[in-house]
Amino acid sequence: MSAPIRTRIAPSPTGFLHLGTARTALYSWAYARHHGGEFVLRIEDTDVARSTQDSTDQILASMHWLGLDYDEGPIYQMQRLERYREVIAQMLAAGTAYHCYCTPAELDDMREAQRARGEKTLYDRRWRPEPGKVLPPVPEGVPPVVRFCNPPAGDVTWNDLVKGEITINNREIDDLIILRPDGVPTYNFAVVVDDWDMHITHVFRGDEHINNTPWQINIFRALGAPLPAYGHVPVILGDDGQKLSKRRGAVSVTAYEENGYLPEAMLNYLARLGWSHGDDELFTREQMVSWFDGSHLSKSPAQWDAAKLSWVNAQYIKAKPDDALAPLVAAQLKKRGIEADDRLPAICALFKDRCETTVALADWAAAFYADITPNADERALHVTDAVRPVLATLADKLSACAWDKAAISAAIKETLAAHGLKMPQLAMPVRVLVMGTAQTPSLDAVLELQDRQVVLARLQKA
Ligand code: GLU
Repeated sequence: MSAPIRTRIAPSPTGFLHLGTARTALYSWAYARHHGGEFVLRIEDTDVARSTQDSTDQILASMHWLGLDYDEGPIYQMQRLERYREVIAQMLAAGTAYHCYCTPAELDDMREAQRARGEKTLYDRRWRPEPGKVLPPVPEGVPPVVRFCNPPAGDVTWNDLVKGEITINNREIDDLIILRPDGVPTYNFAVVVDDWDMHITHVFRGDEHINNTPWQINIFRALGAPLPAYGHVPVILGDDGQKLSKRRGAVSVTAYEENGYLPEAMLNYLARLGWSHGDDELFTREQMVSWFDGSHLSKSPAQWDAAKLSWVNAQYIKAKPDDALAPLVAAQLKKRGIEADDRLPAICALFKDRCETTVALADWAAAFYADITPNADERALHVTDAVRPVLATLADKLSACAWDKAAISAAIKETLAAHGLKMPQLAMPVRVLVMGTAQTPSLDAVLELQDRQVVLARLQKA
């Protein structure tokens, strides 16, 4: 029996969960689920200066919000320092790693000289033990780093799950530092020990890591560990064709949660951004899991399309049951200090067709729970002297009728008949006064959900 499929996502807690990382997490998760395998969450917190607990919390919350459940983790690299040091000791003993005592100033000089000669700036391996080579005398007071003995020549080739065959020559890379003087390992080393220990079989990650992969493969080989398969997913570009970045708008999952997007819509949109299943645009997470076998991943960068995401979100909002939508809208209202009540599911039902986000739905719902200010232009256009007596008649009828759609509709019709007017001439000003704008769903349905006293008070302000 072959080993079970195991994938992982390994975010660094130096900020929110980036959309690109969320997409890679989704692919890793779906791949594991598709194959009945396991998905691991690892927090790569070895950049001690930039890692924060707050970022870790945000990442975990975003994973939870997206529903990307993991079978193991979170595993923190900083809790595995002993294990890394143990492997380093083995490598030092085996001669696949060595101490290097170069000072930062020496390294600067080395690079300077290489640049002057027009060469690539690579560590010149001056501390690498070699048969017959005399190493420099160990300087006093310089804490050493540990470097990996990268093979000095030959190609590293792997069959990338996304990009196909990739080859990088070892002459392009040097003996990288794997352990810093403070005893904390560097990314390329820790990631190998972790992927090895955690039995990771498939690594999906952003293609900015392609240049790290030869080092990692070489370290795996030096350790005699089985190699995972790698799939490097292209970057996501912003609307302007540049890499999606903080400076170019919302890039964190948290921001989309706050801005009223549904996790199922985010997953659907992120999945399609760089992967396809025929022409399918809308699909459930179950469908994705059944379809996602690692094929049909795009080799070229995907373009972030805010309008398309909004469209996808609108489809999910429309399809979501009102009882499930209401708590999300209630949470948005709460942020504005507004308490909703049991009318909210019906309000969602009435307005969800015209909303792209739960924030937009909350904007409508707010008109039922808090004061409104009618749009000034619409007010000037529709609430005219001619219509004021008509509004008074309507208010009169509404103060006495039963408070349901049929009775409200009858009151409106009687008012129109009494003044010889057509529906829009009355409906527009009533909408502006009661809801703040003339563009609302059917007036009787809207009024039925409003509190009668609120309607009368707002009509009085005509
Ligand atoms: N911590 C790395 C990152 O966030 C993980 C890279 C990897 O998946 O190997 O980019």
